[in-house]
Amino acid sequence: MSTSTQRYQAIDAAHHIHAFVDQKALNQEGPRVMVKGEGVYLWDSEGKQYLDGMSGLWCTNIGYGRRDLISAASQQMAQLSYYNMFFHTTHPAVNELSEKLFDLLPGHYSHVVYTNSGSEANEVLIRTVRRYWDVMGQPEKKIFIGRHNGYHGSTVGSASLGGMAFMHEMGGLPIPGVEHIGEPYWYAHGGELSPAAFGLKCAQELEARILALGADKVAAFVAEPFQGAGGMIFPPESYWPEIQRICRKYDVLLCADEVIGGFGRTGEWFAHQHFGFEPDTLSIAKGLTSGYVPMGGLVLSKRMADALVERGGVFAHGLTYSGHPVAAAVALANLNALDQEGIVTRTRNDTGPYLQKSLREVFDRHPLVGEIQGTGMVAALQFCEDKASRTRFANEADITWRCRTHGFEEGVIIRSTAGRMIMAPALVISHAQIDELIDKTRRAVDRTAAELG
Ligand code: PLP
Repeated sequence: MSTSTQRYQAIDAAHHIHAFVDQKALNQEGPRVMVKGEGVYLWDSEGKQYLDGMSGLWCTNIGYGRRDLISAASQQMAQLSYYNMFFHTTHPAVNELSEKLFDLLPGHYSHVVYTNSGSEANEVLIRTVRRYWDVMGQPEKKIFIGRHNGYHGSTVGSASLGGMAFMHEMGGLPIPGVEHIGEPYWYAHGGELSPAAFGLKCAQELEARILALGADKVAAFVAEPFQGAGGMIFPPESYWPEIQRICRKYDVLLCADEVIGGFGRTGEWFAHQHFGFEPDTLSIAKGLTSGYVPMGGLVLSKRMADALVERGGVFAHGLTYSGHPVAAAVALANLNALDQEGIVTRTRNDTGPYLQKSLREVFDRHPLVGEIQGTGMVAALQFCEDKASRTRFANEADITWRCRTHGFEEGVIIRSTAGRMIMAPALVISHAQIDELIDKTRRAVDRTAAELG
């Protein structure tokens, strides 16, 4: 091991608490030190190359190392490195970005509050939705309904909206006023029901909960169009139309977390367009800047924004870095490139279908894989012990973790969730790189299967 790897591992162990990992075990093992990225590839400090099948954390939609994004950042820093949107001020960079963003969004959205991350977007969601109902003269509408195994971030409010049981156990979450219903994960929970019947059943759980709580108390339903961190779980087709019907019937806001699904991931600009429903708010981040600098936001429908603007008066809310000029300039360069180079269109019509078809050709009959889900540049392989009965392994978290480790050894980064291997490569990936991604993934899955005997 090189001395620079050793040095960074020592500093890391001395000073860092990493996300979602046993820190003591990591200190003994030593983290991988990533030093360079170009396109869909990463290199570590030992010179090993990886095909990044996860776009970092679902965020480097345009790939690493784009010179146009880099120069947008440096030019903006030279021009106006910082100013804010508090009180009576604005600046060109954020206005240029918003003009582009609302060109790409469906026409019924009109306003955005920029943040630094997806978690913050969802914190802003909680306050903005509650403020909206105040302004509408229904201040009792305060309760949010999320879903078990949903993920909306790591801060107090966003982790409460999420339904990760192990996160809730740490720190007394969720906060009051947040409820959860079941997830539309047919493979795990569908039993004897058809996917369509199960999708309806899950959606109708929302109706039952609204009625139990009282529609006059429920502010919003919050969900990812497809669950990302929970395992790239795609709901049955019957799910979203029924959810939308229920939200409209009871005047409950429908809030889509597009932090992973946004900016071309599914081959549509936004994942709700893939599923064909119309949310009132969109939480965005990640692909907005392709991860080059932090930026997120909460997008509001015109109906909500009009109420807040016309009747709301002062909204006592603001973030120092909201609409940061450098982040805005990078986001604009990123959106222009995704749009003008036809990268999202190619994901929808060419590379996305190629990834999905190739995955099914390779894994449909694999003994370890019970189901393949995905669209565009997002996919999941469901591991199972017995395909016919959809029986899952008792120690599935261990098994998928091993597969992920084999992936690293084979030179591909894929991620494990309990029972599922997931991938979400950059949208700029080529056919040859998709072949490489699938070939290396197959070797990792085969090695895992061989160990199971
Ligand atoms: N929402 C979803 C759907 C996410 O997947 C994530 C992060 O993975 C977040 C919100 C939180 O975003 P951030 O990590 O930028 O705070």
